[in-house]
Amino acid sequence: MLRWTPWLLGAALLLAPAAVQADRRWRLGVFPVANFQAYTSHYGPRSLDGAAPRLHNGLDIAAPLGSPVRSWWRGQVVEIIDDSACGIGVVISSGAYDHIYCHLHGSVSGGVYRSGPVQLSSGRMVRFGERIGHVGLTGHTTGPHLHWGMRYRGEWLDPGRILRAMAASQASP
Ligand SMILES: [Zn+2]
Repeated sequence: MLRWTPWLLGAALLLAPAAVQADRRWRLGVFPVANFQAYTSHYGPRSLDGAAPRLHNGLDIAAPLGSPVRSWWRGQVVEIIDDSACGIGVVISSGAYDHIYCHLHGSVSGGVYRSGPVQLSSGRMVRFGERIGHVGLTGHTTGPHLHWGMRYRGEWLDPGRILRAMAASQASP
């Protein structure tokens, strides 16, 4: 039985991935899609059209067009993305973790992301589970889904590991 250890390094700083199973605080994490349909592509090497495999650096979660996307953790918006790959995206920093949300619905103008009642720009603090956008079709995508990426100290990490840690912590007494 792993013991939960009080960490004194600041409220937003989470454990290293290797230790995730030990920390009850993972139960605070919020699944980023409100209307889950399916996982359509997992994290890892992926070969498209016979090309050399490249890292698919996130987890694709299908959900209805326009349905809410929620922040996995509390944190601070550090980047609004608007490019041909991610499309419209939001990057949130939570201690050693950055969580990235791509293919969002809406528009970006002057560094401000807008979608319905959501309005975000760099520097904004967000709460656990706060609605940070809506599932869209922007960027490189063939159907409405959230591409959810995760970096730990700048290195890509499989978001599935985070989900498993959340499930384990929620299941423990
Ligand atoms: Zn993806």
